[in-house]
Amino acid sequence: MAKRDYYEILGVSKGATATEIKKAYRKMALKYHPDKNPDDKDAEAKFKEAAEAYEVLSNDDKKARYDQFGHQAFEGAGGFGGGGMNMDDIFSHFGDIFGGGGGFSGFGGGFGSGGQRRVKGSNLRIRVTLTLEEIANGVEKKIKVKRKVQAPGTTYKTCSTCNGSGQVARVTNTILGRMQTASACPTCGGAGQSIDKKPADADAQGLKPTEETVSVKIPAGVVDNMQLKVSGKGNEAPGNGISGDLLVVIEEEDHATLKREGDNLHYDLYVSLPDAVLGTSKEIDTVTGKVRIKVEAGVQSGKILRLRGKGIPSINGYGKGDLLVHVNVWTPKTLSKQQKEFFENMKNDEHFEPKPESSDKSFFEKVKDMFS
Ligand SMILES: [Zn+2]
Repeated sequence: MAKRDYYEILGVSKGATATEIKKAYRKMALKYHPDKNPDDKDAEAKFKEAAEAYEVLSNDDKKARYDQFGHQAFEGAGGFGGGGMNMDDIFSHFGDIFGGGGGFSGFGGGFGSGGQRRVKGSNLRIRVTLTLEEIANGVEKKIKVKRKVQAPGTTYKTCSTCNGSGQVARVTNTILGRMQTASACPTCGGAGQSIDKKPADADAQGLKPTEETVSVKIPAGVVDNMQLKVSGKGNEAPGNGISGDLLVVIEEEDHATLKREGDNLHYDLYVSLPDAVLGTSKEIDTVTGKVRIKVEAGVQSGKILRLRGKGIPSINGYGKGDLLVHVNVWTPKTLSKQQKEFFENMKNDEHFEPKPESSDKSFFEKVKDMFS
């Protein structure tokens, strides 16, 4: 059965706020709660489905991944791939939704984790180097991946140990009576199938290496070492197993003039003494191209000019960082005789006396402001 869209499940639009999402989920949870719908399998499924949707849409990180990659983002290990969410997980979130942990008491069993185990191919990990400009704007990368796929001509037969169920039952006698537990078949590893025939160039699992170009959409705002998952683009699994995932690890290239700090960028601007005294305009680098900025006459060294929204977009979609331009007044190290005389004459000139005003914040105050 195809998985329904999480927004559709909760009956909200893609642009819904966190409050709207929470409200919608509360409504669904109350309607389909198992205490209100005893022995109703349909309600149980809807209850679980809503919980899963809320689990993702209420979490900024998961929501961003879902918006980008859809259900693919959570398939397989660590996701909801197995038997869906477990009831304990769902109820553990209820304190948050219904407040103070009240509302519903505990919930008596009845839901097995279920689900047939499917063998999963191994994951592949690949590093991708991005420029700051690519990170700022988002980019689609074509990545060459060496992955194992099922070799054509490989045939499978039903595993004789488990008769294809992938599970073997074990009966044990306990003080509570006879208990039957199921575990993965040791012969086929849970796949229910084993290799019948395979071509000579295939490995023991009937797989062979290929090179494939995978297109990966990288959202704006990713950070160094972040890992993006492309579901199903890892190694294939034998038989009816599911493919592993391709894990794309982000590597950020150093920029020649811009330094990144979270979503903010820093740029060191050097101005000459005459420019600082008389005022000027300077061209600076940004992640979207060069920009000309005005430097006021009488600018102090250490002044920070903040260009709002010229930083990196937040990966969670909350606006953009700023570009902070640090003004450094360049003091000449050598002077001509004439220039030296000029400055000698200015030594006791009142215009050259430092007179910091309250609006000229100290370096430490500026640093404090920058992080606030
Ligand atoms: Zn088996």
